[in-house]
Amino acid sequence: MTSYVFITGGVVSSLGKGITSACLGAILEARGLTISMIKLDPYINVDPGTMSPFQHGEVFVTHDGTETDLDLGHYERFVRTAKGGRHSNYTTGRIYESVIAKERRGDYLGATVQVIPHITNEIKECVKKGAGDADICLVEIGGTVGDIESLPFLEAIRQMGIELGRDRVVYVHLTLVPYIPTSSEIKTKPTQHSVKELRSIGIQPDILVCRSEKPLPSDERKKIALFTNVPEKAVISAYDADDLYKIPKMMHEQGLDEIVARQLGLDLPQADLSEWDIVVEAKKNPTAEVNVAMVGKYMDLKDSYISLVEALQHGGIHTRTKVNIHFIDSTDLEKEGLAVLENMDGIVVPGGFGDRGIEGKVEAVRCARENGIPYLGICLGMQVAVIEAARNLAGLEGAMSTEFDKNTPHPVVGLITEWQDAAGSTEERSEESELGGTMRLGAQAVTLADGSLAARSYGTTDIVERHRHRYEVNNNYRDQLSEAGLSFSGLSVDDLVEMVELPGHPFFLASQFHPEFTSNPRDGHPLFKSYITAVREHSQGELPEVAQG
Ligand code: GLN
Repeated sequence: MTSYVFITGGVVSSLGKGITSACLGAILEARGLTISMIKLDPYINVDPGTMSPFQHGEVFVTHDGTETDLDLGHYERFVRTAKGGRHSNYTTGRIYESVIAKERRGDYLGATVQVIPHITNEIKECVKKGAGDADICLVEIGGTVGDIESLPFLEAIRQMGIELGRDRVVYVHLTLVPYIPTSSEIKTKPTQHSVKELRSIGIQPDILVCRSEKPLPSDERKKIALFTNVPEKAVISAYDADDLYKIPKMMHEQGLDEIVARQLGLDLPQADLSEWDIVVEAKKNPTAEVNVAMVGKYMDLKDSYISLVEALQHGGIHTRTKVNIHFIDSTDLEKEGLAVLENMDGIVVPGGFGDRGIEGKVEAVRCARENGIPYLGICLGMQVAVIEAARNLAGLEGAMSTEFDKNTPHPVVGLITEWQDAAGSTEERSEESELGGTMRLGAQAVTLADGSLAARSYGTTDIVERHRHRYEVNNNYRDQLSEAGLSFSGLSVDDLVEMVELPGHPFFLASQFHPEFTSNPRDGHPLFKSYITAVREHSQGELPEVAQG
């Protein structure tokens, strides 16, 4: 029987509700429980797949190919048993879409369809579906208490407390306790008001997690407890941490998991957080420091590439390397030239959509290739590597992806439908034209060439990685590109290019898939460990093989 922990937020947004939820999941898992995690998002988009990373940060792709909120990335990085998927992220839009479809089908037998009970019932059903058979399901409600949009979600979780009983439901509320420097005071009033707001819709929180700059002094803790009707020991101080991975322990030391366990009547073994200690320790004591340039598009909003940034850091943790990531807008590279890449030990081109800055990315690849700088290309970063090789190694002038130039003389990357037609194979046209317009999403098997850098990095030739893209390397150009020196070291079961590399270069590897979605701090990821090892060697002046030859 699954119990539920609902996590709401108050005062302001961006308090780190996702991280808090993930950390609570991590501690409860460390006490032997299986965990599932759900994010409820009050916006009307059916999923975040179509939302701009400027607005919403990264779109996290789950194993089953669902495009989800970036918080699901935190969940998977912190909690091993929480496997996100189709039932782990619901938006208002998705809930309404389903209710309206049911109404059209006549499922409601002529009833007037209303927010209560139809929308709230739908939310409750979705939460139960997403919970699966885990011991505890953690449900994070996006937005801030007091928003009009989140009301149906809050009403649904209120009802679950009544229906399941208070020994199966815990309400955690995250608030901000600001410090006012001019009067040197810590202010508890916003927290009091936020809890008042929550109580006005019928939810009395069991636990408050208070975000603040410094640890909460005991007087303030007492005051908050008194005014919010929450026991003092259940007022947890989540002060700013210099390292994200210290948070599980910080919360455990204040008894967060024990309060949850007691309320749910669970007698659990002690939490084993030693793996998190190892991660914190490794981060604190690096034996080398490297500079990696990330050449992309949304460089003002680091959240756009959060999983990739994390994965590179995990590579650092597992090789005891401090990884400084320098975010470089590829349009700056177009304007200011390669000088912006000076002193970089590694170059990464991440995934992306749209043609802005594409030539800058091609230049970044050229710089990495010609100077023996370790290169890692992800998705679009592989496509630009192919474009660069086509232009500068195979002499295919004007080579491009049809995503950016429909009339390119050499469409080395294109929609499957485009290049299969060009090869004159029209037989499977109808089936393929379906495929051509849609995204390739989710986990798929990839076979790596024996002895390739890819296979050596992974330590195997059979891998499964997640995808999110429309365009593919044009197979009609594969022979020409191979002759020019580009090696296709990873292929899908249906013979699409998954990985390319340049034999002879110290480390030049790019993937059509997104390995960053499966990296986590405790285990790291083979590709990122291998990449950071190469970057580290490069920074320590190991002579690149290209220069030697
Ligand atoms: N825009 C490219 C495509 O659709 C790459 C996508 C990506 O990098 N995620 O194929």
